[in-house]
Amino acid sequence: MNELSELIKEKSYYTKQDIVALLKVTDKKAISDIYDLAHHINKKNLGDNVLKCGVIEFSNYCNKNCLYCRIRRSNEKVTRFRLTQKEILKLTYKAEKTGYSSVLLQSGDDCEFNLESIADTITQIKKSTKLSVILSMAEKTELEYKVLKDAGADSYILKHETSDPILYRQLHPDLKYSNRIKCLRVIKQLGYDIGSGILVGLPGQTFESIANDILLFKELDIDIIDIGPYLPYPDTPLARKFQQAGGYFAPAIGYFDVNEVIFKIIAITRIVTGKSLIPFTPNFNAINFENGKEISLKRGANMILEDLVSHKYLHFLRSQV
Ligand code: SF4
Repeated sequence: MNELSELIKEKSYYTKQDIVALLKVTDKKAISDIYDLAHHINKKNLGDNVLKCGVIEFSNYCNKNCLYCRIRRSNEKVTRFRLTQKEILKLTYKAEKTGYSSVLLQSGDDCEFNLESIADTITQIKKSTKLSVILSMAEKTELEYKVLKDAGADSYILKHETSDPILYRQLHPDLKYSNRIKCLRVIKQLGYDIGSGILVGLPGQTFESIANDILLFKELDIDIIDIGPYLPYPDTPLARKFQQAGGYFAPAIGYFDVNEVIFKIIAITRIVTGKSLIPFTPNFNAINFENGKEISLKRGANMILEDLVSHKYLHFLRSQV
């Protein structure tokens, strides 16, 4: 315990062994100390500010086939949609009026992606609002990232999901881990604030690979770190495996209370990375626990992402046209 209390201190550098030891803590008092330290670092670096960001999923078409993803190209049960520029702008104006400081424009890897139209939408948002524009639109070319940056985009999120290259390959049949990391470096060099993130609860994930994820956030100087639960969406290959295994399996982790593990990863990430933005994401709402938002803000999170596009809202928008 003495060694542990030495670890739960603010330091400029944490080794992989330090992080693994923190992730493996089960003592309730020590876990509480980790949360307190994360909250202290958060307040010291960023005050009481909590950034509110509205998520606008403007297209759920995707030409990739990641095994865990609800909108993968082979999932024929998904109702696909694309928002028009007018619909996106209407949502952003509403977001600003209702107190959001940024919007996240999100899509799958959409074959019909129109660079000029997205760039023009970004320019219009920046001209007519004070909102920061965050993009999450899968992998693009360097030229495409540059055009979107020149149009006014502030940040780009490209989650690496897991830093375990073997696991990454198993889950992403048409993507390469090395290219994802290369894209993140290119995006940073272009002057964006960059976002990345992981899924927690993947089969085969270990504390060691999560420690590598946290060290990668630090190494790449990631500005927005999205840590969310793996959700077993019906009609995806990974969910079928998940059901066969009888629930959250993560056998390599040993025990699995998904809420506790995620809160602990958020807190340790805050302790290791210091100033990053760490959001409470809509996906947290899908795992059943009360006051998740309030709890995460006391354990290192300092940003709230909220979905602005629901199917009910889409229906409403289209009935107004
Ligand atoms: S690229 Fe993104 S949106 Fe497309 S299937 Fe993979 S995870 Fe889903």
